[in-house]
Amino acid sequence: MALSHTLGFPRIGRNRELKQALEAYWQGRLDEAGLRAVGRSLRASHWRMQRDAGIELLPVGDFAWYDQVLAHSLLVGAIPPRFRPADGRIGLDTLFAMARGTGTRALEMTKWFDTNYHYLVPEFSVDQEFRLSWEQLFEEVAEAHQSGYRVKPVLLGPLTYLWLGKARDDAFDRLELLERLLPVYGEILGRLAALGVEWVQIDEPILVLDLPQAWKSAFERAYHLLQQTPPKKLLATYFGALEDNLGLAANLPVDGLHIDLVRAPQQLAGVLDRLPSYKVLSLGMVDGRNIWRCDLEQALRLLRLAAERFGQRLWVAPSCSLLHCPMDLAREDGLDEELKSWLAFAVQKCTEVAILAKAVETPGAPAVQAALVESRSARETRRGSPRIHKPAVQARLHGIGEDDWRRPTAFAGRIVRQHAQLGLPPFPTTTIGSFPQTAEIRQARQAFRRGELDESGYEATMRAQIRLAIEVQERLGLDVLVHGEAERNDMVEYFAEQLDGYAFTRSGWVQSYGSRCVKPALIVGDIQRTRPMTVEWIRYAQSLTDKPVKGMLTGPVTMLMWSFPREDLSREQQALQLALAIRDEVQDLEAAGIRIVQIDEAAFREGLPLRQAERRHYLDWAVRAFRLCSSGVRDETQIHTHMCYSEFNDLIEAIAALDADVLSIETSRSQMELLEAFEAFAYPGEVGPGIYDIHSPRVPDREEILALLRQAAERIPPERLWVNPDCGLKTRGWTEAEAALANMVAAARALRASR
Ligand code: GLN
Ligand code: ZN
Repeated sequence: MALSHTLGFPRIGRNRELKQALEAYWQGRLDEAGLRAVGRSLRASHWRMQRDAGIELLPVGDFAWYDQVLAHSLLVGAIPPRFRPADGRIGLDTLFAMARGTGTRALEMTKWFDTNYHYLVPEFSVDQEFRLSWEQLFEEVAEAHQSGYRVKPVLLGPLTYLWLGKARDDAFDRLELLERLLPVYGEILGRLAALGVEWVQIDEPILVLDLPQAWKSAFERAYHLLQQTPPKKLLATYFGALEDNLGLAANLPVDGLHIDLVRAPQQLAGVLDRLPSYKVLSLGMVDGRNIWRCDLEQALRLLRLAAERFGQRLWVAPSCSLLHCPMDLAREDGLDEELKSWLAFAVQKCTEVAILAKAVETPGAPAVQAALVESRSARETRRGSPRIHKPAVQARLHGIGEDDWRRPTAFAGRIVRQHAQLGLPPFPTTTIGSFPQTAEIRQARQAFRRGELDESGYEATMRAQIRLAIEVQERLGLDVLVHGEAERNDMVEYFAEQLDGYAFTRSGWVQSYGSRCVKPALIVGDIQRTRPMTVEWIRYAQSLTDKPVKGMLTGPVTMLMWSFPREDLSREQQALQLALAIRDEVQDLEAAGIRIVQIDEAAFREGLPLRQAERRHYLDWAVRAFRLCSSGVRDETQIHTHMCYSEFNDLIEAIAALDADVLSIETSRSQMELLEAFEAFAYPGEVGPGIYDIHSPRVPDREEILALLRQAAERIPPERLWVNPDCGLKTRGWTEAEAALANMVAAARALRASR
């Protein structure tokens, strides 16, 4: 029979127990022994859940206190000197200091491939040494063995680990560290073998990226060395196709290869061709990145093909670690039965894997037959369901014409009309949208949700907050005002809740980083807007002031990237449906007398595919989606967009193609360097480089802001320069936000006066 296994399981706990325990520990409400006990009980219950679902070979080492890459840095002793404890004893507090920067600068955090999970970036020095420094993995193996589980430790591979890290000051090539790192891997493998481990999973997801030749060659060197130490090695790849790395991956001296057939089913034929048949082939058949039930019949067809060649050496698994999907569908009591029948979370995905493994051998077994019937009927009800397929939405998409993607007049012409209508001073000041989400706001929202506060009471509270925000902005002398977003819990959820086609879970938490979790909305069917979503709030804000108030919307790409998307429709089509809904909102705002509308695309960059060759296609539709939502307005209406990151070199052409009138970006931490990209490209639009880092409670003074603005004015023509913070202020307190904005306005005035 094919063996069922998983590459990793969510670690945060059914009720986010790990989150609670971590936060209690950080606040001193729980001691280390208490925290460790929570970890042990979570591991035990996660192994039990997977085993009960029918998984034969369980992962160990997928648990992490904060992040698996950070845990690996501790394991191999990559601990920058500033975190090394005086007594040399590396412990949990060392780990948390690296993650959270208690007392010193934390490690950088960045996205794990194209997921919404964030890892802590390993930081290497030129004289970096590696030494086995953390016992957790071995303890966990012993723990699992004690409970009688058959486990497969999960290790981040040496090449992926180095790739994800960064050389301090970019002063050297981190690949040079490989020879120093490998002996530690040898030691780890030796320790695991001594514990009686038969198989180790070594994750090398960078094999699905475009790799420089030096890195490819390094794979061969590294794995020839590791070959010398048992246990057997399963090389795990996921998030894409091996493509040009297929030959390399297939022929490394390891005992098995895992590939992702959800993202890249087309790679099966090549792998069947090239992988020596004495190796194990593990097929990732069940989507670890999404919440849809697997099409078991389709999966089984591929498995049978592979079984012909690999027989007993065929393994079945989810496509990647289940870390990226919520834990258990059984807990969702707010979803109707039909919708539930279409979904599978981590626990259900384990069941699917187990059934598939069984089905390869005994397709006629009653349990297999029953599962196949269920899976087929889910597919059929989905295919015919009117909550998914809405002819009106599809017809509207088909009817889109050339003019719908284009503003009536080119930027140079319409900006003149906008200036005339808005009458703003040079270097206009504004903010990115949100003002502090105070306890009062959150309490009112919760009370409203629980039914303790009625609609009119809730509305009155929110209106009072809007009034407050407008008053503060008037007092500060800002030029373009915002309503402050008090009514929004989250920039995606707020809109998703009002759009037809979305669904929501109660407990569908997914770890984002450390103790932080997100609960992405589910795009279930064709998306349509049934009523205006923001107009009343913005209209109210505008009624309180003569200054222009910006309408504030979330863009189609960001809506899509931060939701669980459909798998029966391309991402492009989903983005375009979202774009049409937002387009209607933009037009309604305009009709309500709003002169500026900002459409946030915080996740525009995130959508970039992992492979260079696929980027063009993505940027193409992402740009079209943005243009579709923003092009339905008059020349006089000014469209802003906001992107909170600061690498634009590879994106500048696409950003320009968005054809927004004003773009605000994050620059405060890169000291305006990135504006070089805008200058070099001769970016045509107006730009608001963030001059205030909202992630920090520090209040920048006027001189500092002025200096940044002067630098910016060297790169961006002064008549096109805006003055704003680098993101929304919702996580800040009013005192610091006001102080910083006052300095910002003062700096803009000083700059005006000096010209
Ligand atoms: N308008 C949003 C805010 O100010 C933008 C948030 C974001 O870019 N992440 O909060
Ligand atoms: Zn932002």
